[in-house]
Amino acid sequence: MQTQRVDLVILGSGSTAFAAAIRAAELGKTAAMTENRTLGGTCVNRGCLPSKNLIAAAGIIHDAAYPRYPGIEPARLRFNFSELIRQKDEVIAYYRDKKYQSIVGDRISAFEGSARFVDRNAVQVGDVRLEAQRFLVATGSRPFIAPLEGLDDVPFMTSDLLTSQEEMELKERPELLTIVGGGYIALELGQFFSRLGTRVTIVEPSGRILPNYEPDLGATLREILEEEGITILTRSKAAAVRKDGEGISVEVVGDVATTLRSSHVLVATGRVPNTEKLGLDVAGVRTNKQGAVIVDEELKTSAPHVWAAGDVIGSNTDSQMATPVGAQDGGVAALNALSGEHHKVDHRVIPRAIFTDPEVAVVGLTEKQAAERGYGCACRTVKMDQVPRAQAVRNPRGVIKMVAERESRRVLGVSMLGMDAAEVIHEAAMGIRLGAKVEDFVGMFYVYPTMSEALKIVALSFTKDVSKLSCCAE
Ligand SMILES: Cc1cc2nc3c(=O)[nH]c(=O)nc-3n(C[C@H](O)[C@H](O)[C@H](O)COP(=O)(O)OP(=O)(O)OC[C@H]3O[C@@H](n4cnc5c(N)ncnc54)[C@H](O)[C@@H]3O)c2cc1C
Repeated sequence: MQTQRVDLVILGSGSTAFAAAIRAAELGKTAAMTENRTLGGTCVNRGCLPSKNLIAAAGIIHDAAYPRYPGIEPARLRFNFSELIRQKDEVIAYYRDKKYQSIVGDRISAFEGSARFVDRNAVQVGDVRLEAQRFLVATGSRPFIAPLEGLDDVPFMTSDLLTSQEEMELKERPELLTIVGGGYIALELGQFFSRLGTRVTIVEPSGRILPNYEPDLGATLREILEEEGITILTRSKAAAVRKDGEGISVEVVGDVATTLRSSHVLVATGRVPNTEKLGLDVAGVRTNKQGAVIVDEELKTSAPHVWAAGDVIGSNTDSQMATPVGAQDGGVAALNALSGEHHKVDHRVIPRAIFTDPEVAVVGLTEKQAAERGYGCACRTVKMDQVPRAQAVRNPRGVIKMVAERESRRVLGVSMLGMDAAEVIHEAAMGIRLGAKVEDFVGMFYVYPTMSEALKIVALSFTKDVSKLSCCAE
């Protein structure tokens, strides 16, 4: 067995690990990453990048078939699914080489294989023993497979279908797709497949899609998706699956009791941290009931020489499973681990988006969350048809809601469903970060006509009937 000594051993090689390794190199230290799948982890190989690539392609096909402007003839664009998948793999390979592989070099090394602690200060990966005084657990998360009778006996997909260079990559377009679960992955991929002509049914146990979001968003998005031809069954649960000739039958119980004949099943029932088989107990690292590594605000685990960041910490320290959170925190963890400094993470304001069309983007608290935290709050909701840009380009679908503290009028949260919402939300996030009040959004000049004006209009709606504004939201 070969032994190597570095300053920081990192379990994982996703965006969290890379940010940490780069920070280590900036500090003049050496870091070794480990990877049991593909270098770069989930985001680049099977998450953000492939999904956003394919979703945009399906958007082009959809927009051509359903032009919003009278005077433009609908066109049925011909497409080749395998070619779409091939170009997706090409984009991923290019990006992985440029942003990940090329970073590995002088001070940063990467080792293939499953890493696990074999000693307090040593991790084994393949036949290499990596020794260090400092460790970072950044092993990310994987699809959680809800227990479903018969699932062991049928082929099914998870969000790993977007992967490349791995067996579970989907290479053919499904004819009839049942998606178990109604969260962000189900909605993004459901709309993607539907726009390519797949008959999609989403089965969601709670009363609405996006149950933890503002109710208006889920309700409006549901209408939009249903109009596009997606079937959404709420208060309904996939209870069992079984082989049915060439396809699969999904037995659904609840509000809608039915049997769905499907060519493919996608299980999108959440994600779980990758913490088993890491030998965490050998190092003295504790996990919670969900299997997430427990960390403090400095991302230090229960072992004084081990830090953790990214998806693997789940919602500890109010974190969220998203690439920018892991990337920023990976840097903080490496800095704390290698410099002896005590930087804290700040997870109070994390904007996030769902890349459906129109997009969903949220930051801060919903009305319900604000009330649960004891805020006396005031809220306003405005439909996108009040936003000049949305009207001008004939895309008035959606809604925006602002939640503010009643007395101080400090903005606590913004939720938007609408064109470009994932871009607009950053201004709201910065506002919340800096303690902006409703009046700050009212007093701001906005480029006219932009979707960002939605923020000014919803802020104005606290004091005015916004259906009576002239242009420029005044
Ligand atoms: C379909 C999908 C779409 C997404 N879209 C977005 C989006 O648009 N925007 C966004 O911000 N986020 C998105 N995410 C979430 C985002 O991908 C993750 O939050 C992010 O990749 C987490 O990074 P990480 O470095 O913490 O973990 P990962 O990227 O998961 O990296 C950890 C790596 O460690 C490896 N590993 C695990 N155990 C071991 C071991 N024992 N030894 C060695 N290696 C190990 C894993 O295989 C993995 O490759 C999406 C996720 C999915 C699934």
